[in-house]
Amino acid sequence: MDKKDGKRVVVVGGGVAGSVVAKSLQLKAHLTLIDPKEYFEIPWASLRAMVEPSFAQRSLINHRDYFTNGNIVTSSAAGITETEVLTSDGHQIPYDYLVIATGHKDPVAKSRKNRLDHYLSENQKIKSANSVLIIGGGPTGVELAGEIAVDFPDKKVTLVHKGSRLVEFIGPKAADKTLKWFESKGVEVKLEQRVELNSIADGNKTYQTSHGEIIEADCHFVCIAKPLGTAWLKETVLKNDLDAHGRITVDEHLRVMGRKNIFAIGDITNIPEIKQGFLAQKQAEVVVNNLRLLMEGGDENKMKTYKPHSALAIVSLGRKDAVAQLPFITISGRVPGLVKSGDLFVGKTRKHLGLEPDVPQT
Ligand SMILES: Cc1cc2nc3c(=O)[nH]c(=O)nc-3n(C[C@H](O)[C@H](O)[C@H](O)COP(=O)(O)OP(=O)(O)OC[C@H]3O[C@@H](n4cnc5c(N)ncnc54)[C@H](O)[C@@H]3O)c2cc1C
Repeated sequence: MDKKDGKRVVVVGGGVAGSVVAKSLQLKAHLTLIDPKEYFEIPWASLRAMVEPSFAQRSLINHRDYFTNGNIVTSSAAGITETEVLTSDGHQIPYDYLVIATGHKDPVAKSRKNRLDHYLSENQKIKSANSVLIIGGGPTGVELAGEIAVDFPDKKVTLVHKGSRLVEFIGPKAADKTLKWFESKGVEVKLEQRVELNSIADGNKTYQTSHGEIIEADCHFVCIAKPLGTAWLKETVLKNDLDAHGRITVDEHLRVMGRKNIFAIGDITNIPEIKQGFLAQKQAEVVVNNLRLLMEGGDENKMKTYKPHSALAIVSLGRKDAVAQLPFITISGRVPGLVKSGDLFVGKTRKHLGLEPDVPQT
């Protein structure tokens, strides 16, 4: 297939899934990538970047570095018609095929440079504090608490979580093992309590929980789940394709149910499995394959199908340990840590995008 006769493919969302589609199809189609940021960020490396800002040199990748042959629109998609994507800055981008990969909404800096600066200032905040409060015991709060506990063992870390156990997206055994690890590091965990976010005043170092407990901390980090990136679809031609949780319903070929030319991948789909980046990448590969086939005029019946995977997730606990939820067993300590916690899959993800694993960008 020659690109000059190629179809117009629009990818909305340059995250874990969208970046793979853009990279893989750039020589096969007239491809446009829409993302509010100029760069792709490896999401699970962001907590390490807070304790070691230079880590972000490898985990923040300008879209242009892996996507050299297409059009980048640095804006948010705000609407879709049967033929076009509309962006919040007024672009109308026509498509023959559309791939929606908007994961989670996370209003972060537009430029890579500003994102790097953000990590420097977060790092300064941690370094200059004797005590840190982390609000939220999902994967983000747990991984951040782990990073701080390991890199700054003298700081008092308190983690407050509204649920009855940590990392609720995986099993209770993982939560128990995580709690024990925190105990061994002196991290204080308070479950079934909330810190009212709107009661936090600037510069205030005293926090009150819903149980009336007072926590003293020099700084705090809010690590609560980010909203799904599908709200913008609610007034569009896809409004009836969202389930009660705002997830897009897809068929086994990852096309939006009942649509011939619109695909959805990653965390936004209603596929019944744990939402993980490595699965978002697998879905992206399926869509790349299916789009190649369709663009070449191949038989639709030969499209690849995607089957939900069983539970598999690793939550890092600092630089060496982790807790892993595997299909039939939960393990913690150095063995899962060896898999994830050293490089946090940064080299692997960069290689997946055709980049050197280790070369820092300037
Ligand atoms: C702390 C933490 C640790 C994790 N660890 C792992 C791990 O070890 N392994 C693993 O496999 N997974 C891990 N995950 C999960 C993984 O990060 C997600 O499953 C993955 O990022 C989903 O990819 P995605 O492409 O669907 O969405 P995202 O990666 O969230 O990308 C969405 C993209 O869409 C863009 N976007 C949003 N709205 C719009 C819009 N309206 N218009 C245009 N663009 C838009 C965003 O800017 C972003 O670039 C972890 C998650 C967290 C929070």
